[in-house]
Amino acid sequence: MTRMTAPRSAPRRRMARFALAPWAIARCAGASLLAQLLVPAIASGQDKGTLNPHPLPPLAKPDDPATPAKELFGRKTAPANLQARTIGFYSKGCLAGATALPINGPTWQVMRLSRNRNWGHPNLIAFLERLAAQAPKTGWHGLLVGDMSQPRGGPMLTGHASHQVGLDADIWLTPMPNRELTRQEREEISATMVVAEDRRDVDPQVWTPAHVALIRAAAKDPQVARIFVNAAIKKALCRDAGSDRHWLNKVQPWWGHDYHFHVRIVCPTDSPECTPQQPRPADDGCGEELDHWFTEAVLHPKPGPPAKPRPGPRMADLPAACRQVLLAP
Ligand SMILES: [Zn+2]
Repeated sequence: MTRMTAPRSAPRRRMARFALAPWAIARCAGASLLAQLLVPAIASGQDKGTLNPHPLPPLAKPDDPATPAKELFGRKTAPANLQARTIGFYSKGCLAGATALPINGPTWQVMRLSRNRNWGHPNLIAFLERLAAQAPKTGWHGLLVGDMSQPRGGPMLTGHASHQVGLDADIWLTPMPNRELTRQEREEISATMVVAEDRRDVDPQVWTPAHVALIRAAAKDPQVARIFVNAAIKKALCRDAGSDRHWLNKVQPWWGHDYHFHVRIVCPTDSPECTPQQPRPADDGCGEELDHWFTEAVLHPKPGPPAKPRPGPRMADLPAACRQVLLAP
């Protein structure tokens, strides 16, 4: 997931204080979620990229055990030349043998190329290609794909607590235009905000049946474990789903996710060190659980003290195999 931000008007640091079902916390972003929630995050569809990204300066002491792992993985520009496998949990792990999603396909285009985050486990690439092929049949012209993972996965310098193991992808809530976007457009155009100003529902001027159909198609893919959307989007999906509701079970309200939806696929069978996402309760999640997101305390939280920046995990905090992924040619 990206940008686990509070509603636009609300300081996100308060968000962690609200009572969430334990499965929502543990499953969404791992044990360190509360800590990660406090970290300011940028890198979503509305954050611009650049055509001339500056390479990061080398680290003075890369071998220092205190070095945040994001500083190491954030400097890797190519995948580890190893057999593809996912190591660890979505918010605490890394990725060997990553594959890049081609930046153009018949019905998809990758956005924000300067971030070099269009990498994933081959199962994620296959899922995205499958969903993109299905998209036109749902009335959605094609996918604009945002962040996936870094070339070797791992924690990122900006934007995400998860997306670390090559099994997460952000898909813009903006249909692909009927032409190839320029490099500059891919850095600069904004994704579409679909949540209404009062945060209580989707914006009826923007929301369409094709949005529902696309998210439904993603959720019905057997490889998909979880989809994160803004609570207002979940509310709209609950309303519009009709009698076919089983897929709603995979759709989890979360902060942010109002310009994009986040798809998380299951652990690949080739990856014994992958830690699975635990399932949600068996219902459609359209009842009390959803109501909680629209309480005054969640919609308009009282401001708390400023959040301190956190360095995130060090290499010793990640699965041991991630060191080999980092050091591999
Ligand atoms: Zn995401």
